[in-house]
Amino acid sequence: MTSLCCSTRPAEFSAVTILDSKKAFKQRVRHWTDKLDVDVQWLGVRPMRNKWASCSTNGHLNFNSELLGFDQDVWDYVIVHELLHFYVPNHGKLWKSLMRAHLGDYEKTARKLKIN
Ligand SMILES: [Zn+2]
Repeated sequence: MTSLCCSTRPAEFSAVTILDSKKAFKQRVRHWTDKLDVDVQWLGVRPMRNKWASCSTNGHLNFNSELLGFDQDVWDYVIVHELLHFYVPNHGKLWKSLMRAHLGDYEKTARKLKIN
């Protein structure tokens, strides 16, 4: 007899954990899209090489699945960062003041991701 059942269990467990945090992350995105009144057409969470997230003006949002391993303050930072780009395409004065209005000391969180 093989112990196939026992050996597959850890993999199943981690797949469920990833699915759960992906679900929690997407719920967090929905929370902010409601709050910031952004119309998102597509929301994806997938591995990305060079960036944490991307957005396009047609309402497509993608987040790096590595973010799932971070705390919620980091999630909020990346989510609000991208959603504000639907209103402000750059990281200028207006974008910065909106970030501060919603997240407070967001630069501290940005340092955890080594971006600004
Ligand atoms: Zn940006």
